[in-house]
Amino acid sequence: MRTFHAGFEADHLPVRVRLGAGIRHEIGAEMTALGLSHALVLTTPNQAAQGEELLAALGPLAHGQFSKAAMHTPIEITEAALAAACGADCLVAIGGGSTIGLAKAIALNTDLPQIVLPTTYAGSEATPVLGQTANGAKETLRSPKVQPEVILYDPELVATLPIGLTVTSGLNAMAHAVEALYARDRNPLSDELALGGLRAFKEGLPRVVADPGDLPAREATQFGAWLCGTVLAQVGMALHHKLCHALGGSFALPHAETHAILLPHSAAYNAEAAVGPLAPVAELFGGSVGGGLYDFSVALGAPVALRDLGLAEGDLDRAADLAVSNPYWNPRPIERDAIRALLQHAWEGARPQ
Ligand code: NAD
Repeated sequence: MRTFHAGFEADHLPVRVRLGAGIRHEIGAEMTALGLSHALVLTTPNQAAQGEELLAALGPLAHGQFSKAAMHTPIEITEAALAAACGADCLVAIGGGSTIGLAKAIALNTDLPQIVLPTTYAGSEATPVLGQTANGAKETLRSPKVQPEVILYDPELVATLPIGLTVTSGLNAMAHAVEALYARDRNPLSDELALGGLRAFKEGLPRVVADPGDLPAREATQFGAWLCGTVLAQVGMALHHKLCHALGGSFALPHAETHAILLPHSAAYNAEAAVGPLAPVAELFGGSVGGGLYDFSVALGAPVALRDLGLAEGDLDRAADLAVSNPYWNPRPIERDAIRALLQHAWEGARPQ
């Protein structure tokens, strides 16, 4: 039983959110309601066809399409997209965190309103945060300018997400919620958002894996993505996100898979230091925090070993050094030997104790 801890502050930017099968067909109406008439559609190269379909449906409301969004929002791509955005009065992003990141980067430079249709569960649509890369270095900034104004969650769009990415992306979202539960600046609202997000994925992900086209189950997971993305915008992240940034940035490991593999280990690392905050996770996932999350991942067929992502065992020492440098606040002190052991377990794919 959790107790209410009174006395908190929370900032919320105005965001319009709609969820439902076929909701993408409402983009024109959303644009008209905002007085907009020239949309630049954004996608990755992989999702160009989804963008073309949208562009055709927009008809006279379409300005054009730019389909070169890429992971970590490289600044050169943003510059090319800014040229394509000339004459547009809004951005329509259809995709995951990479495409939404591009929309945010354009909005930072132009203040163009963003209507986004998320097709993964990463949650970037719900945050005023942008990570972008210039000259190989990633910088993260927070500004109300980058927060998308309208989010349209259409389960028919996420139904095309391959099942492997569905699972890892869901676990990526859950990692925001787990870290939010023990965040230093957590509050009663962030607790409820995080728990709601975890429950939605706990219930929805197994159903989606059993039947990727199950639209009500996809809706449940998208609701979870919104809750987990919203809580990511509200409170600070800790060890888990530091580990993922260190591994993703220095060893080019894929974003969602890295989150998925590390989540049970980082949660287990913090389990004793955050017994109260993590009690609902232990309850939801059956007993121990790390073991329960690991078993949930295995049951969904998620990758569990960093070695399967191509990380060499010889890189673990450097990874541990990076993870302990400039550490984020964490409920348990960051100890180099313990982090090195955590990375070894995650590399081998062992079940956390
Ligand atoms: P992604 O956007 O990079 O997508 C991965 C691949 O899957 C891409 O090729 C994409 O086109 C494809 N894809 C996505 N949805 C699909 C669908 N429904 N059907 C078929 N293919 C689909 O992956 P991601 O995990 O959503 O985003 C990762 C990026 O987002 C990282 O750069 C991360 O740093 C960033 N991110 C930012 C925030 C934030 O708040 N700023 C939050 C979360 C993630």
